[in-house]
Amino acid sequence: MELYDVIVIGGGNAAMCAALAARESAERVLVLERAPEDEAGGNSRFTAGAMRVVYNGVEDIKTLVPDLTPEEIARTDFGTYTEEQFLDDMARVTQFRCDPDLTEILVKKSHATLDWMRSKGIRFVPIYGRQAFKIDGKFKFWGGLTLETVGGGPGLVDALTRAVKKNGIELWYSARAVSLIADDDGVHGVVVKREGKTTQVRGKAVVLAGGGFQSNPEWRTRYLGPNWELAKVRGTRFNTGDVIRMALDIGASPTGNWSGCHAVGWERNAPEFGDLAVGDGFQKHSYPWGIMLNAEGKRFVDEGADFRNYTYAKYGRVILNQPGQFAWQVFDKKVVHLLRDEYRIKQVTKVTANTLEELVKKLDDVNAEAALDEIKRYNAAVRSEIPFNPNVKDGRRTEGLALNKSNWANLLDTPPFEAYAVTCGITFTFGGLRINTDAQVISTDGDAIPGLYAAGELVGGIFYFNYPGGTGLTNGSVFGKIAGTNAAKFARG
Ligand SMILES: Cc1cc2nc3c(=O)[nH]c(=O)nc-3n(C[C@H](O)[C@H](O)[C@H](O)COP(=O)(O)OP(=O)(O)OC[C@H]3O[C@@H](n4cnc5c(N)ncnc54)[C@H](O)[C@@H]3O)c2cc1C
Repeated sequence: MELYDVIVIGGGNAAMCAALAARESAERVLVLERAPEDEAGGNSRFTAGAMRVVYNGVEDIKTLVPDLTPEEIARTDFGTYTEEQFLDDMARVTQFRCDPDLTEILVKKSHATLDWMRSKGIRFVPIYGRQAFKIDGKFKFWGGLTLETVGGGPGLVDALTRAVKKNGIELWYSARAVSLIADDDGVHGVVVKREGKTTQVRGKAVVLAGGGFQSNPEWRTRYLGPNWELAKVRGTRFNTGDVIRMALDIGASPTGNWSGCHAVGWERNAPEFGDLAVGDGFQKHSYPWGIMLNAEGKRFVDEGADFRNYTYAKYGRVILNQPGQFAWQVFDKKVVHLLRDEYRIKQVTKVTANTLEELVKKLDDVNAEAALDEIKRYNAAVRSEIPFNPNVKDGRRTEGLALNKSNWANLLDTPPFEAYAVTCGITFTFGGLRINTDAQVISTDGDAIPGLYAAGELVGGIFYFNYPGGTGLTNGSVFGKIAGTNAAKFARG
């Protein structure tokens, strides 16, 4: 039977980073990817490649994007995203539940890890399209999310795959890990079903990076609760919780927000799983510039509570909880130019009208009369004298409504009006395996399981309730690198 130093389970960003880090000091590294090659790369491939990273100014951006031109620098206000800001964001959006030790590592190692990824051939660029607005001729970044990988998620996975192959790492597609080979001394390998045939592969250490359980409707309903089987999956169909289960089976400890997940507003008529041809185009994240109405014609959430980076990941659940699990996002002409590119794809459920009366009648499955009343009530409550500014929390709000809008409250008064139907799209689950700061998997007895490491989406304890956009990839990279490095060290004995 073949013996590898390190076996990595998964084919996404966390797995590839783990494999690359392991290969720096281990001879034989094997990556097991459940998906066939044309669907490989997990959720990582579905992303826009946005990565949250600490920087103290433009100099730190330049180390990650060395080919930034003087013109680009002159016309951009990058601001800063300090360790304190990142830590604050994590604490605030997770309601102070995030594991402090893991979070500190995530934040403090974010810049060095992206720098290391650059050394492996991954390229980054500023996200001018979605995270910066142009004011007086200058782009200003907001929300702490400034860089993306070249080519988005597909570009990231292609670059990682190239690096894996170049570094002499074996990569098996259509190779589903079924269980771990383990005894009292720890983990010794993996049972794999490769192209339909079950075999055993021996490894001195194993890294688990097989994603969450969002693509398993039965687990979704079991852990997230009723109606979650009705959500659409935004990404890969292969993250069904297998790899979490096989670790629990050998005594790994579950931890984190098992009833929580990242879920967003998503095209109502999208397919059951993500479609790589559309990628993240089904998401609909521009609700802060408009309002959302449910089947009863009612607003149900503060669309302007915060920058969308800090609300989008929890509003999917809010939409799922509405009657019929859908909502309509409504905008008028004044803000249409601010809508993200995803609103202009072909696969949208969209209606337009020249009057509000006409618009509400076109909103499928909505009580039109109630919707019109709601819009009128909303319009009457807008503090129009406060100037609208999309770059800051402008405090332009409504007053006197049972549910107010806190920022960016524009009147819906300028035709044509546009509305988009959304439902809940689940991105990934938050509950998972307990690891320590060395990315070792911890058992229910509280000890590290010898030879077992984990990183990425299947790790619990980092995200609760909500999530600051662009942290998933950074999390996978930071802990993937740590897991791979330590697994290789363990394999050396
Ligand atoms: C549409 C969309 C957009 C997103 N945008 C962003 C973004 O811009 N920025 C960001 O930071 N995050 C984003 N995310 C979240 C991000 O995708 C995840 O946080 C991150 O990719 C998780 O990486 P991972 O390597 O842990 O998991 P994945 O990339 O999902 O990889 C898991 C891998 O495990 C494999 N696998 C599963 N079971 C087995 C098994 N039994 N045996 C072998 N292999 C198995 C899967 O096939 C897959 O290759 C987005 C997610 C989606 C769905």
